[in-house]
Amino acid sequence: MHPGFVRAPELLPTPRAADLPADRLSGKRCVWCGKPATNDLSARVSVVKGELLRWEPRSCSYCLCREAKRVYNIHIRTCARCTHRDYCPDSRALYELGFPK
Ligand SMILES: [Zn+2]
Ligand SMILES: [Zn+2]
Repeated sequence: MHPGFVRAPELLPTPRAADLPADRLSGKRCVWCGKPATNDLSARVSVVKGELLRWEPRSCSYCLCREAKRVYNIHIRTCARCTHRDYCPDSRALYELGFPK
């Protein structure tokens, strides 16, 4: 599969929806730092107050890059599909997001 088909932002875990203020939950502000959001992280489904909630977290560019780096560094140590010579599509997508040229 071409790495471009993997939406790397989908691979990034967000803070718990139940703990977030309304403007971060609505995607108006970055889900991590609360600054104005510019990037979609794709829709999530979380349990808030005992009910399923579909929400669309967004983030600022700075947090998106930082989180992609963080998740990439965890991924390459734990992924069974990644070897020293070949990386899985998730890994490549995270790398492109976290280490832009
Ligand atoms: Zn942010
Ligand atoms: Zn991998």
